[in-house]
Amino acid sequence: MKRGFLKRPTGAPSALSSKAEPAPTAVKSQEANRNKENETRTVVDDSDRPRIKLPYGKVDSDSLLPEEFKPKLPTYEIPAQNANINPDFPLITTQPPILAGAEWNDVPGGWSECHMYASTKRKIQSSPGFPRELPKAKPDCFRIAETPDKGLGMFATKPIRFGELIISERPLIFCGLFTSMSAKLPKQLTDQQVIQARLANKEGELEAVLERLPQERQDAYRALFNSHLHDGSGPLMGIMRTNGFGVTIEPERGAAGTFSAVCEKLSRINHSCSPNSSRRWSSSSFSMQFYASRDIQAGEEITIQYAELLSTAASRKAELAPYDVICKCDSCMNPTESDIRRQEIQKYKPISPDDVMKWAYNRQLPNDYILGPALKTIDLIRQEGIEAVRPFNWAMFAATLCYITFANVQKAVEFGKIVFTLETIEDPQWDVAHFTSLKGMQGHPLWGLRKN
Ligand SMILES: [Zn+2]
Repeated sequence: MKRGFLKRPTGAPSALSSKAEPAPTAVKSQEANRNKENETRTVVDDSDRPRIKLPYGKVDSDSLLPEEFKPKLPTYEIPAQNANINPDFPLITTQPPILAGAEWNDVPGGWSECHMYASTKRKIQSSPGFPRELPKAKPDCFRIAETPDKGLGMFATKPIRFGELIISERPLIFCGLFTSMSAKLPKQLTDQQVIQARLANKEGELEAVLERLPQERQDAYRALFNSHLHDGSGPLMGIMRTNGFGVTIEPERGAAGTFSAVCEKLSRINHSCSPNSSRRWSSSSFSMQFYASRDIQAGEEITIQYAELLSTAASRKAELAPYDVICKCDSCMNPTESDIRRQEIQKYKPISPDDVMKWAYNRQLPNDYILGPALKTIDLIRQEGIEAVRPFNWAMFAATLCYITFANVQKAVEFGKIVFTLETIEDPQWDVAHFTSLKGMQGHPLWGLRKN
C-alpha cells in the first residue's frame, strides 16, 4: 500500500496488528492493547451477567466451581470447509494451511494451530499475499539465556540498529480468549463460579487445539512459564494468559475478535517500562515480528512492555501483578518525576500536514509553535526510554515537516530518516522514499515556506 507524502503517519497501525483497535471486551486504550496478556482480565458472559475480572493469585474456595457443575470439556473439531455457513462459528484450524501429512521441517517457519471464528479465518486468508513467507530477521542477533532474577530472557548477541527486525515467529497456538460455552450454566452459580466454568471450558478447547501440533511443539508450549497456578486456570490456559500476545482482528462484518498468540521464542522476552523493542502482527505471513525501537548494544537484554507505558507507576504495578512481575526499574522505584513526564507525553496529539501548512502561512504564529512541543515531547520520550510509544512517531513527523518548512536540509533529512523507519515498521509497504532524499523533501509543498 502506498500512502501520500502529505498524510500523517498512522495514528493506528495496520488493522490487523494488535495495538490499535477497540477490543470487544475491555481493552482500556490503544497502548493497553499492546499488553502481553491481551485478555484484559475481563469477560463478557453470554447471559446478562456483568463484566467480571479474571482472577489471578490464589482464589478462595467459595469462588471455585462445585464439582457437579464442571462442564463437559468440548473436544469438537470442525473441518474448515464446513464452517463457511456461519461467520460467527468457532473453528479449529491450521494457519497457514498445510498439505495433509506435511512434516514440520517441510514447512518454512512452521504453522500454528488456531481456534478462531470462520469470519476471522476468512479475513486472515484474504490478507494481501497470504500466505507469505516469514519476513527475514537480522540473522543470529539474539540468544535465550538465564537472567539473574527473571528466569529466561532474550539477549542481543550483536549490535542491533533502530528499526531492524529482531525476530519473526509464527505462534504455536493462536486462540480466542473466550468463546461461547457449549452448555448453559445453572443460574445459581455466582459470577466467580461462572468465570471458573469458563476457565475449565477454555482448557478443553486449548487441549483440542494443542494436540494437533507435533509432539515436540506441544512440549515447547508446555515448557513455557505459567504464573496462573492457583486461580482456576488450567495448565494450558495459565500458560496462554502468561505468555500470549494480544492480536485484534476485525472481520468484514461483526465484532472484532481479540486473540492470544503464544510463541515459543517470543514468550521468553521480559518486561521493561523502557523497552527497546516494539512488535507488530502480520496476518499475511501469520507471524509476530519484533523490531528494535532504538539501538541495542551487544549483550543488552531485549525487552517489551507488558503494561501500558504511558500510565503511572502505580497502575503499571497493578497491570504487571498477574504476570508475577515486580518491576524495579528507575521509573517504578522513583515514580514522581517519571509519572509527570509520562503524563506530559500522553498529552501530545498528532499534527497533520494541514496544521503545518496553516502555521506556515500564519505569520502571527511563532516559528516554534509546532516544533517546540514536538521537540519537547521527543526529549521527554528519550529521557524515559519509551521510543515505542505512538507520540514518538507523531512528534518526529511534526518536527520533520517543520524542518522542511524551514528548508533546514540537515535536520529535515536526519528526522525524516527516523520517520521513514518508524512508519515502515508499521507498514513495510509504505512508500516514503522522499523522506530520506533531499530531492524528495525539496519537492514538498511545505519546502522553504518559512525560510528566513
Ligand atoms: Zn518499571
